[in-house]
Amino acid sequence: MTFILSRASRLEMQKVRIITKSLGGEPLITVYALEAGGAAIVIDPGPASLHSPLEADAVLCTHLHLDHCGSAGYFGAPVYAHERYAAHLLDPSRLYEAARAVLGRYAEAWGAPPPCKNAVGVSDGARLFGAIDVLHAPGHAPHHVAYYWRDGGVLFVGDGAGGYIPELGAVIPVTPPPFRLDLYLQSLERMRAVGAGAICYSHYSCTRDVELLEAHRQQVRAWAEVLGESPDISLDEAFKLLAREDENAARVLAAGGIYADLYLRVSVLGFLDYLRRAKPPHDCL
Ligand SMILES: [Zn+2]
Repeated sequence: MTFILSRASRLEMQKVRIITKSLGGEPLITVYALEAGGAAIVIDPGPASLHSPLEADAVLCTHLHLDHCGSAGYFGAPVYAHERYAAHLLDPSRLYEAARAVLGRYAEAWGAPPPCKNAVGVSDGARLFGAIDVLHAPGHAPHHVAYYWRDGGVLFVGDGAGGYIPELGAVIPVTPPPFRLDLYLQSLERMRAVGAGAICYSHYSCTRDVELLEAHRQQVRAWAEVLGESPDISLDEAFKLLAREDENAARVLAAGGIYADLYLRVSVLGFLDYLRRAKPPHDCL
């Protein structure tokens, strides 16, 4: 599937190639490929177990999680990731163990990532190949960045703005522990301020409806409010509360399967974990 992006102010059509990977029959993870600044670029190459042998001069990872950056070492091209964490790509064994601890069988489904020979650190505000701006966007993970392809007006948000499931008409947080709500909200604001004409999510589609960034910010605030009142509740109770408050959550819960299990369950765990840690301690008398 090729998603064609155009801007009224430009004569040429700009193209982003979209390769979506499924797990359990559901489309789940997307790899993006484009030409920018004269280079063949792959953004978020996907898990090691579902490697796509694309031509690449550079591989850009929005963050180091295995479902998006796990196959980067197979490309033989330089792999770009946040400067403070890029060295983990040289020996990704710790990334794999950390993912198994949080995601269990899903981490095993993504496969053990091969080492990258050439990891390149990127910093907030950098411009890559004269064409792609780097925006540090922590919250989902401290090593998360977004990439803004200026000529195409496309912002690749990784997991920093939730997951977009077009079949369900739903955006849902993708916030496994350790999630940082405070940083996440700041990052959303920064991404919105870029003024992109289209946004592409790593889970798992693109849209020109850039207002989804603001809608998602409100959604995240609403989740924090609802769950913040009783962060010690069970997951099932949390699902019920959220389904009542948020149509997106209700749709994902009704759809069940991997969307409910991976997105909703893991995301709610991340919220509850953050909110429990943020809760002021009781006075001891
Ligand atoms: Zn992630």
